[in-house]
Formats: sequence, structure tokens, C-alpha cells
Amino acid sequence: MTSLSDLPLRADLRGQIPYGAPQLHVPVALNVNENTHPIPEPVALDIVRALAEAVLTVNRYPDREFLELRERLAHYLGHGLTSDNIWAANGSNEVLQQVLQAFGGPGRSVLGFAPTYSMYSILASGTGTEWIAGTRDADFEVSPQTAADWVSRTDPDLVFLCSPNNPTGTRLSLETITAVYEASRGIVVVDEAYAEFEPAGTASALTLLPGRERLIVSRTMSKAFAFAGARVGYLAADPAVTDALRLVRLPYHLSAFTQAAANAALAHTDEMLAMVDDIRGQRDRLVVELARLGYSPYESGSNFVLFGGVADPHALFEALLAQGILIRDVGIAGHLRVSAGTAAETTVFLEALERLGRPTAAGAE
Ligand SMILES: *Cc1c(COP(=O)(O)O)cnc(C)c1O
Repeated sequence: MTSLSDLPLRADLRGQIPYGAPQLHVPVALNVNENTHPIPEPVALDIVRALAEAVLTVNRYPDREFLELRERLAHYLGHGLTSDNIWAANGSNEVLQQVLQAFGGPGRSVLGFAPTYSMYSILASGTGTEWIAGTRDADFEVSPQTAADWVSRTDPDLVFLCSPNNPTGTRLSLETITAVYEASRGIVVVDEAYAEFEPAGTASALTLLPGRERLIVSRTMSKAFAFAGARVGYLAADPAVTDALRLVRLPYHLSAFTQAAANAALAHTDEMLAMVDDIRGQRDRLVVELARLGYSPYESGSNFVLFGGVADPHALFEALLAQGILIRDVGIAGHLRVSAGTAAETTVFLEALERLGRPTAAGAE
């Protein structure tokens, strides 16, 4: 059998490791920040009707401009945005890849602030863009000064900001975002995959778009919308940015089924987002209970919680898995990450943790 090393692989891909969050069938899966509530049945039936209709014309290519979807997404986002400001693809991962294809590439670089979403460096590598890992301040915060210093020092072609940040849950201030924009000459992406889980009244980076043609705000239907399996991500930006993405996207990249399903789901925004308050409540419960159990959880604006004070993350991960509970080892020493599930799932996780005993003094921070 041939192995990878026998193939004429691109030199810069040799030795790279693919994205690989474990996909295990366990009773309690709290490892990839999905919305663990199924979508409401009346909405599911509407989606099925839309798919049934779409199949009747599936002999034809789908709307290459996915205009209805862009109109619905613009309406959902508000902030005076129109379909001209919106772009979408098969998950925000593909959106970010297209951004790198258009604005990154060989000889160009993208700056992010580690620890951050693991796909950024993988997308950089796939598009031949140099990944620059900037650092954070205490408690994973990024001050305007720290961010602007990194931009000035490295002069990147793109900056990827994640707010709230995965895997830490840290929120980024609009001041930090504007400081990055002003310090840079390149494209600034604010990945707001978890925006719907932020405290009510939190200002989105969408408010910063007017007059900033290099700013991109990306979103996804994978998390709050409980639509991870459908693969729909999108962005809002100046219409010139979407014109740039048309140069690199594959024609008809959003299938007729994807468009039909997303349009039907977006006709029921309120029902789709009905569980968000509940999930926020479980997230806050995780922060309180993890602290009570002797761990050091971080405040989170998302649907997951990073917690420190774990003496042996690998051992705790395995002990929970043995009880059918899957969480995430994100590679930060002494830490693990858990998604906020249903009340019942969160209870199962917390009770298992309590049974496994308090972290030892050696593991506490
Ligand atoms: C989950 C996640 C996404 C979403 O990816 P999709 O491709 O839309 O499923 C994007 N960014 C971050 C930071 C995430 O955690």
C-alpha cells in the first residue's frame, strides 16, 4: 500500500496534521460546541417541504448568486445591511478559506492571537498563506495596545479575530477591533461564530462596518441555529469584498438543497433560536459549578466553557469518555473545554465530574 510520503505532495503540506476532533458516538457529546437541541419539528417539516420542492428542479444548476439566501441573511443581521453586503458558503470555514484564497496565498500572511480557533492555521496552510501566531494578555484577553503592537510588528495581509474566542470564550472589545483595523493595511476578519450567545445588548462588529471596506464579519448557522449538519456560514462586508470572493468561489458552490434548507430555516428565526437563552443558562451554570468543584473556569460569551486547574487533562478526558461523556482537550496545559448542552446533559457532565473527585492541589492554579 502507498503511504502519504510516497506521493508527490506539496512540500509545505508534508508533516501537517488534518483537523481531527474525535467523532465518537457517545450519549453525551459536548466536544464541538454544537447546539445539542434538535430543531423544532414544525420547522423540520417546513425544511423537508422546501427540500422536496427543490428536488423537482435538481436537474438544473442552483442559483449561483443564492440571492434569496443573501436577502434573508441580510434581514436577519439587520444593521442596514442588504444582499449586496452578504456572502455565504458551506460553513464559515469555507467562507474563511475563500477569504484567504482571495486576499492571502503564497508570499502573504495572516495574523491571529493564540490560543484561537484551530482551523485558522489549517486554512492558512491549505491556501499557502503564512500563519503568524500572536499572543494574548493575562486571562486570554487582547487589549487594543497588544493587538495593534502585533499588527505593526508583523504587518500581516490579513488578521483573524475571533470574538468570542474559541477555545477560551473570551470576548473582544470593539476598541481592540478598531485598533487592529487602524494599525493594519490588510483585511480584518472578525469571526462571530458565537455572537448569538453573547449577553443581550452586546454590540457586534457589524456596527463597525460602515466606512471600513477592509473589515469582514463572519457568522455561521452551525452553532446557535442548530444547523451544523447543513453547512451554512456567511459574512457581511463591503460589496467589493463579495466581488473579490466571486473570483475564487467554485460556481454553484451552494447546492440547491443547502439553499432551500437554509431559506426555510431562516423563515423561522425565532423558533430556531429559541434554545439560545436556555444554553446561555447552562453555560453560566457550568462556570458556577466548575468553580464550586475546585476548577478555574473562564467567563464565556459563547456556548462553551474553558476550565483550568485540571491536574491531568488527558486522564480526566478519558475518565469522562469511559462514562459516555465526550468533551475537548484543546491542547492548553491544565485545561479542558466543555460545550453547554441541554440541562440534562450538563447535569450528567457535572455529576460525573463530582464523582471523579476534586482536582488535586498540585493541579490547581
Ligand atoms: C464552530 C466555529 C465556526 C463554524 O464553522 P462552520 O464551518 O460554520 O461550521 C467558525 N469559527 C469558529 C471560531 C468556530 O468555533
